[in-house]
Amino acid sequence: MRIAVFSTQPYDKEFFERFNKDGEIKLKYYDVSLNADTVDLAHGFDGVCVFVNDKLDDTTISGLSGNGVKLIALRCAGFNNVDLKAAAKYGVKVFRVPAYSPESIAEHALALILTLDRKTHKAYNRIREGNFSLVKLRGFELHGKTVGIIGTGRIGSAFARIMLGMGCRILAYDMYQSEELKKAGVNYVDLDGLFGGSDIISLHCPLTSETKHIVRKENLEKMKEGVMLINTSRGGLIKTMDAIEALKSGKIGYLGIDVYEQEKSLFYKDLSESIIPDDTIMRLIAFPNVLITAHQGFFTQEALTQITLTTLKNISDFGLGVKNGNEVILP
Ligand code: NAD
Repeated sequence: MRIAVFSTQPYDKEFFERFNKDGEIKLKYYDVSLNADTVDLAHGFDGVCVFVNDKLDDTTISGLSGNGVKLIALRCAGFNNVDLKAAAKYGVKVFRVPAYSPESIAEHALALILTLDRKTHKAYNRIREGNFSLVKLRGFELHGKTVGIIGTGRIGSAFARIMLGMGCRILAYDMYQSEELKKAGVNYVDLDGLFGGSDIISLHCPLTSETKHIVRKENLEKMKEGVMLINTSRGGLIKTMDAIEALKSGKIGYLGIDVYEQEKSLFYKDLSESIIPDDTIMRLIAFPNVLITAHQGFFTQEALTQITLTTLKNISDFGLGVKNGNEVILP
């Protein structure tokens, strides 16, 4: 199997080289992302391996098919960036890594919460400058607070268990209720109940036409004054301009995001010497109560190992014609 790997970062190459020791799968690494402009780089390959910000729309998939590509191997769980109808139309199979270390992302959500709350990032900088004052560093205890979780799949469940361990009360919303979580003390409520009753809201549902902009003006209005909002799922769940207005009014008291609607042109790039043309993210960065990380929830040793092993297995199973449950099929 010959696979063109797009959006390659040094750690992707390091992990693929570590686990593809026998070199059975021939990997060619490209650091550019896959889209309609770069699709011809995949010419002559059996498959492409892509990540969250590669754009697999109808034009790109048609181009892939024209270049002889039969496989899209996602090295991530979400597949909102793949036009599944187009993949079916052009006979290109799509595989993903559905479950890799959900704790990796759940723990990152906790890191965002604790950093925003206890302001350790600010304390770190202060102390380095010889400023030992505590003024403006006051936090609050998580114990006894109500956390609302939208989407209680693998990551949402791991996050619920962590927050139960912190002594929080958990409200959850999902079309499928987990009996296990209910037994552990999670209360399923409707969306409005979750919006109105939560001190902290964390998003763990996928980005779909239904969940796009689930955090928008009309829903923000239902939330508690000063709510903490955490998004480690997909940027499109939050209507960013509405969140900015809610930050300005104080409705959102804290915003922690690992994903951003327009992240494609920013995340995973070192733009430290560039003029960033995105005024929206610059406005977000300017708020003292906003914490942004660049889609790094998955970025642990354990998760990278699982992602790499599953991706290699998906590619080899596809090559051998072996069915496995990681194929993404049009619903
Ligand atoms: P999952 O499929 O196990 O769980 C998703 C849950 O969301 C399911 O229980 C589903 O029923 C629920 N859901 C679907 N539509 C909903 C809706 N309209 N309202 C409420 N709930 C809804 O997925 P997961 O592995 O837990 O991953 C969740 C999301 O996390 C992924 O879709 C992906 O976008 C994101 N993610 C982010 C990172 C990162 O690095 N930040 C890494 C992996 C995944």
